[in-house]
Amino acid sequence: MQEKLAKLAQKYYDEVVELRHRIHEEPELEFEEFNTARLICKILDKYKIPYKKNIAKTGILAYINGKNPGKCVLFRADMDALPVQEETNLPFSSKIKGKMHACGHDGHCAGLVGAMLVLNELKNEFSGTIKFMFQPAEEGSGGALPMIKEGILENPYVDAVFGCHLWGSVLENQVQIVSGEMMAGVDIFTLEFIGQGGHGAHPHTTKDPIIMAAKFINDIQCVISRRLRPVDAGVITIGSVRAGTTFNVIPQNAILKGTVRFLNEENHKLLKSNIERIAKAVALEFEAEFKLDYVREYPPLINDDKMAKLARKALSKIIKDENIIKEAKADMGAEDFAFLTKERPGAYIFVGIAKDINNPILHHSSNFCWDDENLKLLMKTHCVIALDFLASKD
Ligand SMILES: [Zn+2]
Ligand SMILES: [Zn+2]
Repeated sequence: MQEKLAKLAQKYYDEVVELRHRIHEEPELEFEEFNTARLICKILDKYKIPYKKNIAKTGILAYINGKNPGKCVLFRADMDALPVQEETNLPFSSKIKGKMHACGHDGHCAGLVGAMLVLNELKNEFSGTIKFMFQPAEEGSGGALPMIKEGILENPYVDAVFGCHLWGSVLENQVQIVSGEMMAGVDIFTLEFIGQGGHGAHPHTTKDPIIMAAKFINDIQCVISRRLRPVDAGVITIGSVRAGTTFNVIPQNAILKGTVRFLNEENHKLLKSNIERIAKAVALEFEAEFKLDYVREYPPLINDDKMAKLARKALSKIIKDENIIKEAKADMGAEDFAFLTKERPGAYIFVGIAKDINNPILHHSSNFCWDDENLKLLMKTHCVIALDFLASKD
């Protein structure tokens, strides 16, 4: 089977690379992935693979049924690009000013299409159903949840979910499949302190929102250093502070924007409640008002131990055991694949693209680039996991 897989991956390789290049040339931002979806549907039509489109606006769900009914497994690729100006000088560089596939999602789409074409040829050799999910908007507001709400995990019922991300800090020809905590949950908040503006020389007649902002910024870092268990991970970052216009005017208000990261529900509650409490306490101290808009975004991404083990075992058939990374610290970045692992057992997998571990490829940078050759391992990773999952007994 492994030889057959390699041969089939080679058979479709040129078409897969071509698809990656076409998607890369015309990057589209969240919920605008119309051309990307059109390119994918064109291949689905060519090979007569059934699918539904326009799920959560631009999402696609394709199906391949095996020779007999059986279990159902879903694989996911994300389709969106980023508002970054490309500076790679690749021959297939972005043709669209200010937009770029700087996270590898062009490769995710092409790799999953490639796996689908290979598995389509093998459909008489497995039982059950494989679903292929192409989702919009991973980078921003999230396309996974609206696709779940439109029923992609039902009819037939999906038993397990898997997804891969090409990863700049994992070496080429290596994969990272961990059990448990994988990536962080994320919230965002906007906090406004509403004070009393006035003359910079008469601060006693004002309620200075800049002092309130400064106090809040310092105090919330004590939540990480003094409230969170020292061995637990958590992040509170203020990424934007806006207040005032000139030297001698105390402004009326100050607006802060921040992000919060956590790896479990307990710490999620701890960080959220402390941010609320400190905002309230600071406003109270200065007899001012505050407005806190706290938004829950993605949950933490937790890999199921059993699914991670199954994936590692499947991978060990095509790459050496030493090239499968089984343990790694969680990444405090977030991923909306977490909505899928919240609903069903599954695992999210990093497929390496780095050539030198001391010189990782930086995601979201204008120079982000990686070799097409890595698409082969990405395709095969999906295939071996699909076949092993469908053949597994429980
Ligand atoms: Zn990204
Ligand atoms: Zn990404």
